[in-house]
Amino acid sequence: MKDRRNEPLRAKRSLGQNFLTSPDVSRRIAAGLDLSGGEYVLEIGPGRGALTRWLAESHPKRLLLVEKDDELARLMTSEYPGAEVRNMDALIFPWESLAPGAGWRVAGNLPYNIASPLIWEMVSRGAGIDRAVVMVQEEVADRLAAPPGGRAYGALSAWVQSFSEVKKLFSVSPGAFRPRPKVRSAVVRFNSLQKDEKPSDPAALARLLHICFQSRRKQLKRILKNYDILRLESWSKAEGVALTERPEQLSPKAFQRLSHALFRP
Ligand code: SAM
Repeated sequence: MKDRRNEPLRAKRSLGQNFLTSPDVSRRIAAGLDLSGGEYVLEIGPGRGALTRWLAESHPKRLLLVEKDDELARLMTSEYPGAEVRNMDALIFPWESLAPGAGWRVAGNLPYNIASPLIWEMVSRGAGIDRAVVMVQEEVADRLAAPPGGRAYGALSAWVQSFSEVKKLFSVSPGAFRPRPKVRSAVVRFNSLQKDEKPSDPAALARLLHICFQSRRKQLKRILKNYDILRLESWSKAEGVALTERPEQLSPKAFQRLSHALFRP
């Protein structure tokens, strides 16, 4: 197949195609994965391979590429014959199929329109993933890594931090892409927590986070007024958190314990 990497880029906005033109940014994303060779590596949205090149150079044991664009999936198949290309929507990727114990590493310059729901599913269902390093809109990066107590902290922050240790690694300006995005970007790293540190009932936690952050300015006692007040008071005492607090004050662990207190049978 013809080498099309140097042709003018016809990016599809509907697929969030902002291609990286800075080799240094691609190299730093790959470096964040700390690959030494022989790892299981998955890339979301390889596009024309700006980041794939650095991943392939580490000689992974498996290289799995998930690309929705048919044309780009074909391009990747021909450029990386050793890789497994899945021409599919990453939003329906079966995260459970990544075997625990293989220590999967995930990389991606994510399409910004799907970044938050994709990360929500990946961190909670990808038990086989040890580490992920992805680029997102900077505003989303700030929410992912936000500590409790501030405006950026919300359901997404508490959720991802319940499954992984999250760190914003570096910011990237629009000039590093073609076409240029309207907003700044940032690279975020997720190191998976140990199994026994993760929520034992993720569905209960998700339900509580949705309820609480729909009314983030209200006090807990008002938001949860229809639930068992005795359980709520006993959680409040054990946790040392007043029911007059607002959701943004609660740590991920406090949410997990509150979800058990309220929703256990
Ligand atoms: N990795 C390339 C780079 O850095 O130049 C491309 C990054 S571009 C921001 C996002 C890539 O994700 C595009 O290749 C796009 O076609 C692909 N993509 C968009 N939506 C997708 C989806 N739902 N599932 C899988 N890939 C998707």
